[in-house]
Amino acid sequence: MVPEHEVKSLLREAGIPVPTGVVITTGDPDFSPADDLRRPLVVKAYGPDLVHKSDVGAVRLNVTDPAAAAGDMLAALLARGIAPDGFLIEEQAPAGTELIVGLLDDPGFGPILLTGLGGIWTEVLRDTAIRLCPVSPDDVRAMLAELRAAPLLHGHRGAPPADLGSLERLLLAVGGPGGLWTTLDLGEFELNPVIAGPAGCVAVDARLLPAAAPRRLARATATADFTRLFEPRRVAVVGASTTRPGFGNMFLDFYRATGVPVTAVHPSAREIGGVPCVPSLAAAGADYALVAVPADRCAEVVRQAGRTGFVQVMSGGFGETGRADLEDGLVAAAREAGVRLLGPNCMGVYSPRGGQTFVGGGPGPAGGTALISQSGGLAGEVIKVGERRGLAFSRVVTVGNAADVGPAELLRWLSADPHTTAVGMYLEDPRDGRALFEALTAIRGELPVVLLTGGRTRQGRRAAASHTGGLAGDARVWPALAEQTRATLVTSQDDLIGVLLALQSHRARLTTTGDGVLVVGPSGGASVLAADACDTAGLVLAPLPDGVAGLNPMEIPVGPRASPELVRDTITAIAGRRPYADVIAHVNVQSFFTYGDSAEPLLAYARCLAEVPGLLPGARITLVTRNAGFAPAGVEDAVRAVAADAAIPVFRSVEAAAVAVAAVRRFALDRRS
Ligand code: ADP
Ligand code: MG
Repeated sequence: MVPEHEVKSLLREAGIPVPTGVVITTGDPDFSPADDLRRPLVVKAYGPDLVHKSDVGAVRLNVTDPAAAAGDMLAALLARGIAPDGFLIEEQAPAGTELIVGLLDDPGFGPILLTGLGGIWTEVLRDTAIRLCPVSPDDVRAMLAELRAAPLLHGHRGAPPADLGSLERLLLAVGGPGGLWTTLDLGEFELNPVIAGPAGCVAVDARLLPAAAPRRLARATATADFTRLFEPRRVAVVGASTTRPGFGNMFLDFYRATGVPVTAVHPSAREIGGVPCVPSLAAAGADYALVAVPADRCAEVVRQAGRTGFVQVMSGGFGETGRADLEDGLVAAAREAGVRLLGPNCMGVYSPRGGQTFVGGGPGPAGGTALISQSGGLAGEVIKVGERRGLAFSRVVTVGNAADVGPAELLRWLSADPHTTAVGMYLEDPRDGRALFEALTAIRGELPVVLLTGGRTRQGRRAAASHTGGLAGDARVWPALAEQTRATLVTSQDDLIGVLLALQSHRARLTTTGDGVLVVGPSGGASVLAADACDTAGLVLAPLPDGVAGLNPMEIPVGPRASPELVRDTITAIAGRRPYADVIAHVNVQSFFTYGDSAEPLLAYARCLAEVPGLLPGARITLVTRNAGFAPAGVEDAVRAVAADAAIPVFRSVEAAAVAVAAVRRFALDRRS
């Protein structure tokens, strides 16, 4: 541990206020240099055994005679078997709010700035905010605002407010561009407390524990050209069987269906199910190879990949089951062969444009939505359920354990892909965290990213560890990352699909910022709950324009006996006078089939709503079909088809719609012009 006074000189050089003080060694106990210090003083002992000084009586406050105080302290410490190297005598800072400011070195994300309520309260209340370094002035303001203790800084109950400007400068000097995080050897770094008062803030304690061994964080920032991964001219499949059809055989069928030229790699067979075989991967001449052989044979296959650009290892049984050695061997083999490796422990690539697929039922329409997923199963669900809801994909890639190609590199490439207009991500493992942070920062405001993370809870993390072998550090880094990069963080697969659908539907209106949200639907509790759902998602229901009676949510009759035009006429009349950016129209599908007996009135309603985007260019219209499960089979798809023609996304709940509307709105507000 670096002695406190030495850390404090580093702080002083970095422009961080510290108390004026002098150091007296036990070998040379001359206290006269302390004569010039302004009373009252603080006396602290320092030395290798003194980590938490107060715990052993090594801090005295309100001291006027430092020699006497140090003498008492020395005797008491020696009696406990602690021999200090010396004393730090310093001026006592005026009272204020005690905060902690620290740097953490996250295993995946690297240096992280932390602040919160300091002193004993840090551990008791755990009221802290974190951000990845480097932090911006906006970041540090947001951190301080996020603390539950924020009112204390603003002058609680007549106390004078703290000088927030000086606190922000201190946080930037630690975690901002070129701050201490770039020069200190972390370890652990902690200022606890920083005393924040009306006349400024002072770091009165400082602890620095250098790292045991320096660590390399970021991986190569080069970006491969992934075009041939998504649009291979030929695919090879290793692991199809002549006797026991498995995954490999399924893929041969997929590629025969999509029409991509495919070759099977097999040591002895001449053909498998009509697909010609070659004995080695190098002989296949493929851009992309899928490997589905047992884990301990994968490295050998990869080593002989020849000029195959990308090799995807489907097989599991690597890091996620404790066989990090096999995973390292696989990466080494890929380097040796000069190929890029996807996986292991993943499903494949999906790209309707390039004939790539790993899901049954044939490829869907080509579109602009990309997905990077650490889970192949989840990616398959998002593709199939998303397409049913109207999503169209540009590229989907599953990365499994991400031993070589990781999410950050793929994201960088997708951000320059002309076919991709939005990216969804499902991640469990922040191994690649720092590179991901940098990639997200670079595309902020240009390409919307929706992030779903698995393992947010203690029990979820345990599941994630056995799924992809990831070891998540602090789960709170994800929300911090999303705040800083303006990615949208969602908490369910349904919301991932919903936000991507809203981004796709409204992609021509992503610049509209407008005047909040208008909600229109039937009256009653549903209307109140709709307002609650919007509020929870952070949406503002702007008041109705002057001269229009009623409230927002606007209540109108909706049902089999109501006029279907009413929704169109109400929205255009109101939104014509006030530029709402978003309109959420909700219906109770159940009422159409309890008080009516055909789908026609509901479809008539949808057709009238579908006229609104043409009448109100710029406004984003969203439809919520509450209780859609009540409708006979096929009705929901029919309503969605009508809405999709008018670029209106459909949700089953106002809660889901509100999350999506809020995400689109946030992107619109943050968009780089
Ligand atoms: P510890 O090793 O126990 O964390 P500190 O140096 O933080 O020791 O001192 C303990 C407490 O004493 C601090 O939390 C703070 O309240 C107070 N303190 C220490 N130094 C000063 C100072 N220079 N001015 C005012 N208060 C101080
Ligand atoms: Mg302390």
